[in-house]
Amino acid sequence: MSLAVQTADLDVVGAGFVHLDYAATAPCVRAAADAVNALLPSYGSVHRGTGPRSRTSTLEYERARAVIAGFLGCRPGDQVVFTRNTTDALNLLARALPPGTTTVVFDGEHHANLLPWPNPVRLPAPATPAEAVAAAGRALAGLRGPALLAVTGASNVTGELWPVRALAEVAHAHGARVVVDAAQLAPHRPVDLRELGADYVALSGHKLYAPFGAGVLAGRADWLDAAPPYLAGGGASAAVGDSTGDVRWQTGPARHEGGTPNLLGAVSLAAVCAALTEADRDELHDREQQLLTRLRHGLRDVRGAAEVSVFGPRSERVGIVSLALPGRDPSAVATRLADEFGIGVRAGLFCAHPLVRRLTGASGHGGCAGGLLRVSFGLGTTPADVDSLLAALPVVLS
Ligand code: PMP
Repeated sequence: MSLAVQTADLDVVGAGFVHLDYAATAPCVRAAADAVNALLPSYGSVHRGTGPRSRTSTLEYERARAVIAGFLGCRPGDQVVFTRNTTDALNLLARALPPGTTTVVFDGEHHANLLPWPNPVRLPAPATPAEAVAAAGRALAGLRGPALLAVTGASNVTGELWPVRALAEVAHAHGARVVVDAAQLAPHRPVDLRELGADYVALSGHKLYAPFGAGVLAGRADWLDAAPPYLAGGGASAAVGDSTGDVRWQTGPARHEGGTPNLLGAVSLAAVCAALTEADRDELHDREQQLLTRLRHGLRDVRGAAEVSVFGPRSERVGIVSLALPGRDPSAVATRLADEFGIGVRAGLFCAHPLVRRLTGASGHGGCAGGLLRVSFGLGTTPADVDSLLAALPVVLS
């Protein structure tokens, strides 16, 4: 794996698309593609075998883990466990909770951070960041036994940044731990466990400019080492006896990484992390905010499309905007944008049904009809992409 970062490393691979759906899956960047290509001629099985291919692969896999630990600001003793994606990472943590743990979670979460928890206390999506902190504090104060606060870093619906640092402080003040769903935060902002004061973070490679199939759960080792293995099998077991249940499980990340590891996924994700570590994140941030401003200004002239928000119109957000289209079917609008203008956006409920229901004023299961129309930016987004959307929207909404 080449970690010598080039300026073109964050260039998106594949031209000619007006892709405004980065929040679903981001295109691959050069660093990730190069990392995969570099390993194609030499890969072998990780942690299995002594041949040169296996040795190289084991070395690269563990190097990828170390790079990602650095990218996420892991503390000494923290673990980085490779998973398939964020959903997998959060389910792994859910299965590793000490018995009796209560998880406090807001209704504004993506289903991946709403549904896995065995003993959840669900709070309504708050109206302001301060309300989020106050509500979390009240809920945690009333709990006994181990507790976890599970919170998104940035909403996949509104792009709004949640007050993770303040939430971590209030959680710790009540003896609880915090996991950050960084699926949407990591592609847009640095995610540092120490700076956030968070205990765990989960993310997906495919939203972070790497190909599919690799994600990460990083954070405190004790719960993970004490838990039953997430995937029982080879790699997770250190020694297996002749009778049922006579198994000594691994400690460390291997405990939860049963089966042959996804080397190319891990290495390509690490390559992106290395490139982002070297990048001027302030410049990337400014560029994205300019795109958001351009979209917002342009939308003022588009009748029938209003940006939705949980924390209010001025809330700080990453490059994700959802639009309410009263009286319209967002899917039909998205289909026309694709068919007639070659523009990719997302329509629907974005695996966040309670939140979209609230934002659309609908109620009950199956409420909120077609949901919202979501526009999301990433490293390859240009002002021309935004202008194409702004030119097409009035036509498809007329
Ligand atoms: N959390 C958030 C905030 C997301 O946006 C997503 C993906 N839409 C997920 C979790 C789940 O990610 P994945 O499908 O890669 O597991």
